Amino acid sequence: MSVDIEDIEDFRLRARTWIRDNLGPYVPETAAGLHNVPREEQLAAVAADRALQRALYEAGFAGIAIPANYGGQGLTAAHQHAFNEELSGYEYPSRFQAPTMSPCAAVLLEFGTEAQKKQHIPAMLRGEELWMQFLSEPSGGSDVAAALTTAVRDGEDWVLNGAKIWTTGAWWSDWALCLARTNWDVPKHRGLTVFILPIHQPGVEVHQIEMLNGAKDFCQEFITDVRVPDTDRVGKIDDGWTVGTRWMFHERMLLNSPYVTYPVGTARAGITTSPARIASDAGVLDDPRIRDLIGEAHTLELVSRALQERITTGVRSGKLSHQAAAIGRLFGGVTHVRAAAIAFEIAGSGGAVWDQDEHTAAAAGESFLMRQVSTIGGGTTEMARNVISERVLGMPRESAPDPNLPFREVPRSRGTR
Ligand SMILES: Cc1cc2nc3c(=O)[nH]c(=O)nc-3n(C[C@H](O)[C@H](O)[C@H](O)COP(=O)(O)OP(=O)(O)OC[C@H]3O[C@@H](n4cnc5c(N)ncnc54)[C@H](O)[C@@H]3O)c2cc1C
Repeated sequence: MSVDIEDIEDFRLRARTWIRDNLGPYVPETAAGLHNVPREEQLAAVAADRALQRALYEAGFAGIAIPANYGGQGLTAAHQHAFNEELSGYEYPSRFQAPTMSPCAAVLLEFGTEAQKKQHIPAMLRGEELWMQFLSEPSGGSDVAAALTTAVRDGEDWVLNGAKIWTTGAWWSDWALCLARTNWDVPKHRGLTVFILPIHQPGVEVHQIEMLNGAKDFCQEFITDVRVPDTDRVGKIDDGWTVGTRWMFHERMLLNSPYVTYPVGTARAGITTSPARIASDAGVLDDPRIRDLIGEAHTLELVSRALQERITTGVRSGKLSHQAAAIGRLFGGVTHVRAAAIAFEIAGSGGAVWDQDEHTAAAAGESFLMRQVSTIGGGTTEMARNVISERVLGMPRESAPDPNLPFREVPRSRGTR
C-alpha cells in the first residue's frame, strides 16, 4: 500500500509561513553557545531551547524525517532539507540538534529496541530529553575503542564504573549514550557495549571544565557503581564497536543528517557572523584586500556545502563507503580554522580587543581564539586523515600493537590499569 507523502514544495510553503509567523531572528552570539555567563542565564537559554523544540513539535515540524510511530512526521530527508533552507536567518533550538538528534537519536533509531525508541525519541522531539555522548575518557579520545569505563553484569543489571570527559553540556542535559568495556579478555574492539543512562543520578558526578573563552560547558563525569538495567543496553553485548562505528558516522555527517534541524547557510564554514557584516562594522568594506577575503570565505562556504551534499548523495547511493564521511569532517575542520582566521583578519584590531557592545568584532575574536575546537571535537582531523587514507583510499594500515591482544594485556600507562 503506498502512503501519500506531502509534496515538497507544498511542505516548503507551509514551513515558510509557520517559520515567518512564529520564529524570531537567528542571533549568532546566542546560538553559538553562551560563554562566560552566570549559571542561571545558561539554564534560561537551555529552557528557551526546550520551549522552541516543543513549539516545533506542536507545529508538526520536529523529527521531519523520523517515522510517525516514534513521534516524527514520517517525511523524507528532502523535506527536512527544505525546512532547513526556509529556516535560514531564523532562531532554532540548537542544543537539541547535536548530539541529541544526531548522533544519539540516529543511533537509537538504528540499534535501539522498540521500547527504547518509543520512550526516548518522542521525548527528544518534544524538547523533554537532551542527550549527550559519553565517549571520550581521560586516558584518550581518539582511540575510542580503548575505553576503560567498565560495565559488569549483575543479574538483570549492569554496574558501571569509570570516567568520561569533554562532554559538552552534560550539566544541563538529561540522558547519555555511554560506551563501556564489558569484556577485557578479547581484543579491544570486541569487548565493548553501549548503554543508555540518566545523567543526573547518584553515582554520576558531573564536574564543569572552564574553556579558553570562559565557558563552562565542557564536563567530566565520574561514574561510580551506576546500575543500568539490561533493557537500557543498545545493541548486542560486546558488539558496541558495531554501534560505535555508526555512532561516529552520524557524528561526522552531522550537517547533512536527515534528523537535524539547522538553518542552511548558518555558520557552515565556521563563523557565525557574516564576513561582510564584520567588514561593514569595522568600516573596511571598500578595501580590495578585505573584499578578496570575503570572497574566499564565501567560496569556502559554497565548496563546503557542495562537498557535504556530494558525500551524502554518494554514501546514500552506495557509491561511497560510509567511511567517506571523514572527508567532510576533515574539510569542515580545516575550513572552519581558515574561516575564523579570515574573520579575525577582517575585524582588525577590533577582533583582538573589543567593547561589550561590539558584537561582530567580539564574535570574530572569539571564533579565532576557539578555532582549533573544530579540528578536535567529533574526532580530530588527524584521525579523519587516517580514516581517509586507510579506509577510503585503501592505503596500508597504521601499525598498532594492540588489535589482536586481549585488552587486559595491552600495555598502558600507570594509573589507567
Ligand atoms: C568542542 C568539543 C566537543 C566535544 N564533545 C564531546 C562529547 O560530547 N563527548 C565526548 O565523548 N567527547 C567530546 N569531545 C572530545 C573529543 O572527541 C576528543 O577531544 C577527541 O576525540 C580527541 O581526543 P583527546 O582529546 O583525548 O586527544 P588524544 O586522543 O589524546 O589525541 C592527542 C593528539 O594526538 C593525535 N592522535 C592520536 N592518535 C593518533 C593517531 N593514531 N594518528 C594520528 N594522530 C593521532 C590526535 O589527533 C590529537 O592531536 C569534544 C571535544 C571538543 C573539542
